[in-house]
Amino acid sequence: MADKRDYYEVLGVDKTADEKEIKKAYRKLAMKYHPDVSEEEGSEEKFKEISEAYAVLSDDEKRQRYDQFGHAGMEGYTAEDFYQNVNFDDIFQGFDIGNIFDLFGFGGGSRSRGRTGPQRGSDIYTDVHITLEEAFNGCEKEIKVTRSELCPTCNGSKSKPGHDPETCPTCKGTGQIKEVSNTFLGQMVNVRPCRQCGGTGKIITDPCDDCHGKGSVRKTKTIKLEIPEGVNEGNHLRVSGEGNCGEKAGLEGDLIVSVHIKHHKTFEREGDHLYIEQQISFPQAALGDIISIPTIEGKEVEFKITPGTQSGTVFKLKGQGMTSVRHSARGNLYVTVTVVVPKKLNSKQKDLLTQFAEVSGEEIKHVEKGLKDKFKEVFN
Ligand SMILES: [Zn+2]
Ligand SMILES: [Zn+2]
Repeated sequence: MADKRDYYEVLGVDKTADEKEIKKAYRKLAMKYHPDVSEEEGSEEKFKEISEAYAVLSDDEKRQRYDQFGHAGMEGYTAEDFYQNVNFDDIFQGFDIGNIFDLFGFGGGSRSRGRTGPQRGSDIYTDVHITLEEAFNGCEKEIKVTRSELCPTCNGSKSKPGHDPETCPTCKGTGQIKEVSNTFLGQMVNVRPCRQCGGTGKIITDPCDDCHGKGSVRKTKTIKLEIPEGVNEGNHLRVSGEGNCGEKAGLEGDLIVSVHIKHHKTFEREGDHLYIEQQISFPQAALGDIISIPTIEGKEVEFKITPGTQSGTVFKLKGQGMTSVRHSARGNLYVTVTVVVPKKLNSKQKDLLTQFAEVSGEEIKHVEKGLKDKFKEVFN
């Protein structure tokens, strides 16, 4: 799975390609690699690869999910899910496609079973961006989601109210076509979904005007999302039943929200712990001090710098880190102190520091600003 090729690359189309271009590209490749016509080695694998790419890129929902999450977004799809919206008859027009479904690893039987029974709606994937403070406290966010809902006019039946679908004359309502062929192994029965009714066994004669026979309509809905305290980047929140509507009384899919935490100007986060950098002066480092440190709660905590602290020392403030979704204890706040050397000194400061050096037994050679120029002289 890891070395799966990019779907756009597989079909040789741009990321911005429209439905028509994608279909054209697929048809051209499919005609070349269809195992019934191609003599090339590996054509079956190639055909599967391009078909899968087409199945995803020709389906708005799947394409959106793929654009956002890549191949990872396709995990959990069965072969059947991949091809559920692909109309191969339309693509191959007159080409014999009898064994295509076998090729993809699902026989006619399982396909039609899936088609006739209730089908759960697909999940919708989206993102939410929150601040570190919101992640700390937990928050409520409103999320706009465009999803398929059952058409209120036909209630998902796809037919105009009062016009029931007719039984498919080709398969007599079974949704399946059985083909018996004589082979040297004996009689083989091949079951495939009925092409006329798409395996449903019913034909819509008077499609509902409001959904054009789709049974569902696209609606934008605002959903209140409770974000628990302690969430972290990449966490997924599942809101059950807020995905796309199902078919034939199938359950709704879920809404799956990917959490992203915005960059914070003061704190860095790792797991439940927070990290902060604090600059201190040389006297503070040498003499010790009590300083105030901001916390994620928006308060300040007092914190003792021990005398003789070196630059780069890390102090741990237990329980001042993030909240956690897994347990009640908070993480820690780690403070890295940096001792800052003053860039400019007035004459009194200079005198005092020189005295300090003398007392410490150090001999400081006096250096003027403009050192760079002097170095130049030496090296030239
Ligand atoms: Zn309708
Ligand atoms: Zn039929």
